[in-house]
Amino acid sequence: MSKFLDIKIPDLGDFDNVEVIEVLVKIGDSIEENDNLISLETDKASIDVPATHAGIISSIYVSVGDKVSLGDLILSIKEVDNKSGKTKKTKNKSINKNLKSATHTTDLLVLGAGPGGYTAAFRAADLGMKVTLVERWPVLGGVCLNVGCIPSKALLHAAKVIDDAAAMKDHGIKFTKPQIDPKALGAWKDSIIKRLTSGLEQLASQRKVNILQGDGSFQSSNRIVLDNKDTIDFKQCIIAVGSESASLPNLPIDDRIMDSSMALELNSIPDSLLVVGGGIIGLEMACVYSALGTKVSIVELTETLMPGTDSDLVLPFYKIVKKRYENIYLKTRVSKIESLKAGIKVRFEREEGSTSEVFDCILIAIGRRSNAFGIGLKDAGIDLDEQGIVKVDKQMKTNKSHIFAIGDITGNPMLAHKATHQAKVAAEVAAGKKSAFDVRVIPSVAYTDPEIAWVGLTENEAKESNIAYEKTKFPWSASGRSLANSRDEGFTKLLFDKETGRVIGGGIVGSCAGDLISEIALAIEMGADAADIGMTIHPHPTLSETIAFAAEAQEGVLTDLYMPKK
Ligand SMILES: Cc1cc2nc3c(=O)[nH]c(=O)nc-3n(C[C@H](O)[C@H](O)[C@H](O)COP(=O)(O)OP(=O)(O)OC[C@H]3O[C@@H](n4cnc5c(N)ncnc54)[C@H](O)[C@@H]3O)c2cc1C
Repeated sequence: MSKFLDIKIPDLGDFDNVEVIEVLVKIGDSIEENDNLISLETDKASIDVPATHAGIISSIYVSVGDKVSLGDLILSIKEVDNKSGKTKKTKNKSINKNLKSATHTTDLLVLGAGPGGYTAAFRAADLGMKVTLVERWPVLGGVCLNVGCIPSKALLHAAKVIDDAAAMKDHGIKFTKPQIDPKALGAWKDSIIKRLTSGLEQLASQRKVNILQGDGSFQSSNRIVLDNKDTIDFKQCIIAVGSESASLPNLPIDDRIMDSSMALELNSIPDSLLVVGGGIIGLEMACVYSALGTKVSIVELTETLMPGTDSDLVLPFYKIVKKRYENIYLKTRVSKIESLKAGIKVRFEREEGSTSEVFDCILIAIGRRSNAFGIGLKDAGIDLDEQGIVKVDKQMKTNKSHIFAIGDITGNPMLAHKATHQAKVAAEVAAGKKSAFDVRVIPSVAYTDPEIAWVGLTENEAKESNIAYEKTKFPWSASGRSLANSRDEGFTKLLFDKETGRVIGGGIVGSCAGDLISEIALAIEMGADAADIGMTIHPHPTLSETIAFAAEAQEGVLTDLYMPKK
């Protein structure tokens, strides 16, 4: 028995009425799920539309030059199961899982398909290598796309819309209290992830990168075995297995005790939430839940939020959240967590003694742990330290020169943009190019409200290492744009080398700090000094002007603020 199925234009993103530029199949062709059927030309890129089912093509309804939109019929297939005559079950995984064990060979094996892994695979394929990308999850994109950067930023955007709307009440515009539908909000966030991860599948297929799903571990320095027992022999390998949330010992098993991935699922909006850990990830999630109406408390072991960051950068944020959150417990250790019917009971230890409180939910955000344990690195002869950090040289090579490591497993900072830059270097070196990870700086951003961003030398580091520097700070209360935005709590600071006058560091706190910081990163990479920045015309009125004003302050030519002569 066979069944006919229609295949339609799926939701591939924000496009309508786009041109079919190629029909890649013909009637009678036998196709597998995910085989590309037609190519479309959008104003941004060309997109291949993959098959949602396997079968034999019985009709094709589009031809080159046709314009198509979401839901239009592309073709029909006859879906047949050879033996039983039953309709084939649709696979709902985006990456094919090989059922029979097999031996594969490849020039370059990339283990892990996060931002490090997929970037390395794509760059190597672009350089002509035969690449196999192995991922244990059924989707590409790793932590960043699925449970990290992207979903957190979608929810932070929602939080900012709520907060910005509420803040307008003081300026003549009153909105009613927002009605929040966590399911719909979660579905919107998931649709963004889907759009990006399916985009990655397109990019992989356009480059003919072979994708295999499985949990990979090394059997030797030239072979990886997957959980389904497939083996892959490789000439070179790039390890990009990333990291996972660190946990506390002896935690009870309870859905109300979340890690960042669970918190991003947005299953409910609790009345009260304790965030354990005052680092970037915990504070970003605190911003989200607070805007959604949860009473948020934070507990941090050290004496400051965002430990390690210059305290002046954290202060404007701290002043805002101190008023807004229920409690911020600094220099406090969580010594016990109990699961009760009424909630999660947490015991805090401080200098003054111990106390307990019950919360609806708690989020454990105490850092990230490398995934490099348990993947057989010893069998491959690769050195790693006690934290699971793999040591690499500037070409991203491990102690085995044909095996590279990139991304979170190479240690701090654990950031997606570090992983992608390292990825390109590793792929290029594997392809025989002269390339090195030789960056001067890697910017860091907390996408809290206000945002906090810094790059290059921090004042903490300068003081610790006795580095002579000069500093200028431009307060955003003197910026027309930040006043117009009704957000004047921020500032922009630049640090200069005392001898050469070059920019060596900088920090910004305020709206869009994460976008603005790139100019300071570029200045450091290019060896710019204050005059280079100050004499570059910045558009008015913008927040980016504050970087130029901080540079002008260093030159003594700032007119937007009165600065006493040095
Ligand atoms: C909530 C949150 C928010 C974040 N926000 C930001 C941000 O705004 N900006 C930023 O720069 N960074 C952010 N990060 C950090 C960022 O996500 C990571 O630095 C980045 O994803 C690291 O990339 P990677 O390629 O090294 O590893 P990952 O993204 O961790 O990917 C590793 C991949 O390898 C796979 N894998 C692991 N072991 C195996 C195995 N044995 N076999 C096969 N596959 C395997 C995993 O399933 C995963 O898909 C955030 C992280 C979190 C948790």
